[in-house]
Amino acid sequence: MPHIVWFGVLAIEMAEKVDIKQPDSRLPTRLLTMPMSPLPPVINKDESFRSQTHTELAQRSVLIFTVLMLSMFALAGAVTSYIAWSLNAQAVTQDEQAVRSTLDARKKSTAATLLDYASWDENYVHIYPAVDITWARGKDKLAGSLLSQFGLDGVLVIDSANNTSYAFIKGTSDPVDALSWIEGGLPAMLDQLRNSPKITYLQGFYQVSGLPTIVSAALVHPNGIDNLPDRSQLPVIVFVERLDQEKLTSIGAASGINQLKAGPAALDNASLVISDQLGVPFQLHWNFERPGSTLLKVMLPLLFITALVLYLILTRLKGRSLRTAALIDSSREALEHSEARFRDVAEASSNWIWETNARRELIYLSDRFATNTGLNIRDWLGKSLEELIDFSETEFQENLYQTPESAGNPKALECFYMDHKGRKRIGHLYFRPVWTEDVLSGYRGTLSDITDEMEAHAHYEHLSKYDPLTQLPNRTYMYQYLKEQLAHGPTPESPLTIFYLDLDDFKHVNDTQGHGFGDQVLIEVADRLRRCMASSVFIARQGGDEFVLVLTGQRQPNTAVLAECLLACLSAPITVDDLEVRVSVSIGIVQAPAHGVIKGELLRFADIALYEAKGAGRNTWRLYDSAMNERLVQRQQIEEDLRAALVRDELRLVFQPRFSIQSGRIIGAEALVRWSHPTRGLLSPAVFIPIAEQSGLVVPLSDWVLRKACLEALKWQEPIFVSVNLSCIEFQRNDLVERIRSILSETRIDPARLELEITESVMLDNAESALALMHELKMLGVKLSMDDFGTGYSSLSYLSQYPFDGIKIDRSFVMSLSEGDTSNQAIIKAIVALGKALSMSVTAEGVETAEQLKALGILSCDQAQGFLLGRPFPVEHLVEQLGQQLALNGTPQD
Ligand code: C2E
Ligand code: CA
Ligand code: CA
Repeated sequence: MPHIVWFGVLAIEMAEKVDIKQPDSRLPTRLLTMPMSPLPPVINKDESFRSQTHTELAQRSVLIFTVLMLSMFALAGAVTSYIAWSLNAQAVTQDEQAVRSTLDARKKSTAATLLDYASWDENYVHIYPAVDITWARGKDKLAGSLLSQFGLDGVLVIDSANNTSYAFIKGTSDPVDALSWIEGGLPAMLDQLRNSPKITYLQGFYQVSGLPTIVSAALVHPNGIDNLPDRSQLPVIVFVERLDQEKLTSIGAASGINQLKAGPAALDNASLVISDQLGVPFQLHWNFERPGSTLLKVMLPLLFITALVLYLILTRLKGRSLRTAALIDSSREALEHSEARFRDVAEASSNWIWETNARRELIYLSDRFATNTGLNIRDWLGKSLEELIDFSETEFQENLYQTPESAGNPKALECFYMDHKGRKRIGHLYFRPVWTEDVLSGYRGTLSDITDEMEAHAHYEHLSKYDPLTQLPNRTYMYQYLKEQLAHGPTPESPLTIFYLDLDDFKHVNDTQGHGFGDQVLIEVADRLRRCMASSVFIARQGGDEFVLVLTGQRQPNTAVLAECLLACLSAPITVDDLEVRVSVSIGIVQAPAHGVIKGELLRFADIALYEAKGAGRNTWRLYDSAMNERLVQRQQIEEDLRAALVRDELRLVFQPRFSIQSGRIIGAEALVRWSHPTRGLLSPAVFIPIAEQSGLVVPLSDWVLRKACLEALKWQEPIFVSVNLSCIEFQRNDLVERIRSILSETRIDPARLELEITESVMLDNAESALALMHELKMLGVKLSMDDFGTGYSSLSYLSQYPFDGIKIDRSFVMSLSEGDTSNQAIIKAIVALGKALSMSVTAEGVETAEQLKALGILSCDQAQGFLLGRPFPVEHLVEQLGQQLALNGTPQD
């Protein structure tokens, strides 16, 4: 039982560690981890469940995170690159624009200067119609200062016929033809100037000595001079500005760019293409500061390092999370295992589980509750534990404040509850307080129904203490009762009396009517005892047909009165199945403390008293006295001595002759055993035969007698028969026939010379088997005679059923013959008549007087035996008698 609680606690700990989702915090944690009803299979092999293991979840999460990270970094890279690219593009455009505007500004300022010169009257007069070289070469005219001041490379004047009428070229004094010096479409430009009245000047890019060159041309048109010739006649002044490296450098500087150069651009350089008037492209290029590239240079390594760091962190995290997940999974598995175990135990056990809150209101009841009690779980949830279960509050409190050491094994509280049929049930309540952060939050426990167990126990107790047949206490219980009562110390004023009852000849009832019948008799006897005795009397069946009554206390009836009462109570006939039987009882009585105070001793003394009662002829009682014990001791001593006597050959045989009344001759002799005891002298068989019978010694004794009798008989002068007494004990064993057979073959005596004397008790013990045995003995050729006829239950009628050869009428009948007792005469007469009818010889025993012998002769009795005719004497005496008989009468003819 405590294991379930333990599982529960374990499950809670696991659940807390793993933090499994709990659908309803109101219910106990461990119970929530499993659905309440019906219980599902413990391990769900379903795929959806499988995909939810923490390890797989963690692996998936790590993968997703990695992909997400990579995408983020890729995006960041792309965005950065885009920004860098657009920054670069923007910078190029800006540089371009700067160069263009610097060039434009230059062109504009050149144009302004050019227009100044073109509209300057003095200039006109000095170059038209012909160029005044001297003037032109003068200071501040069309010569060096002009060039140096405005950064020009040449100033030229071209007449209407497109001839170069004046040229001042930097670095050379050679005459220059403008049209050939300036490559490309200068004539077209000139034409346009002359032919378009609105155009005052034109500018364009040309190539001069392989360099891109700004060529600005304006029609000379003075303001202050009237009568100007036709536009087409006017000279054109041309400014040539070659973009050599120096210029380009200064343009670059003005534009804020570095190393502006002409010519094909290097790959990484920015460039600008300007077409000349002929469409030939000039490429300008410069050292381009890429802000985007700088950004990339900073950002990409930063991104890379960040990614690397993140990757490392992720790898570590992955390892850790996988380990944690694996741990969680294994914890979860352990939890599932634990739950499964808990569930199995909960299901397999007959106990049900309950849980309450701190107010002891039920918040959970396991399914077993419904199965076991038949009550509805819902009806009871919310109700108090006390309403459901009846238990001792004191014990509950005691259990509650157990020491931590004892907490491992909760003690069972005996409790009661009513099942759905209102039947009271007994249970064992186990529980534990539930602590949530050191605050008592409720109780949980189990209840195991022990009603059946208790009932079984009670039943078993009853079985172990009561006799199933009579329902009286059995021997065990009686012993226990005696022990208890004796422990109280009986006194002479308040004695303890034991009545030891034994039914007389109950074996006979059993044997003749069957055991079922015997059982019914025993039941009736038990009932009678109950009825006759006061309820305070303890009545037990000791076993078989023995009963024990125990009386205690001061007010006990007189033992003699009670004993007589018992005899009377049982003497009335008992009717079972329309059959009436009479049972009598013998009683041995013993009393404590008078006779002893030890249970075993008292019972033994009661048994001795019973034995005495039996010996006294049954259907009577005897109160124990110490002399009985002495007799018993003596008996035991005799038994011991007899055993030794058989070995030491202390037994003797005497022979009493049997006579034919008619002829007066000895026709046989009865062998009678004697024991010459070393200290007690010669002992009578009446003393030791009963002891031999009780101890079983009678069998070897009888063997000795049979052998000795036969061997002696073989020595006799006449082949008269020898008669040997058999004990009824010998008929109860199944070796009798074999024993006689072996004696016969051993001694080689004529079986017809051996007569076996059997008493009526043999037939009474077991009539059927006795009859069978007698027939078998007859088959051996021996003779059988009925001894002591008339003393027992004998009736003349049954004689015919047995294969007797003769009847020996008991001494008691013969004794009274001399006194003229007519009733006994009639009996003897009847026996003689029956004997004759059944062809049995009739012998009269104990013939002591001549009158008796005479009367027997008159009654036609065949044979006689008795002190008158011959006492039992040693064999020599018989041999002597036989000798005399031979001498006197010779061998008998018959
Ligand atoms: P029982 O078979 O009836 O034997 C005859 C008994 O009567 C003998 O006593 C005998 O001495 C005695 N008796 C004979 N004639 C007279 C008489 O005229 N008057 C009187 N008063 N008594 C007479 P015993 O020898 O003491 O034997 C007693 C019983 O012991 C026998 O009775 C027999 O039942 C039994 N018994 C003796 N020997 C054996 C034996 O070897 N085996 C067995 N199983 N029983 C034996
Ligand atoms: Ca006899
Ligand atoms: Ca006899």
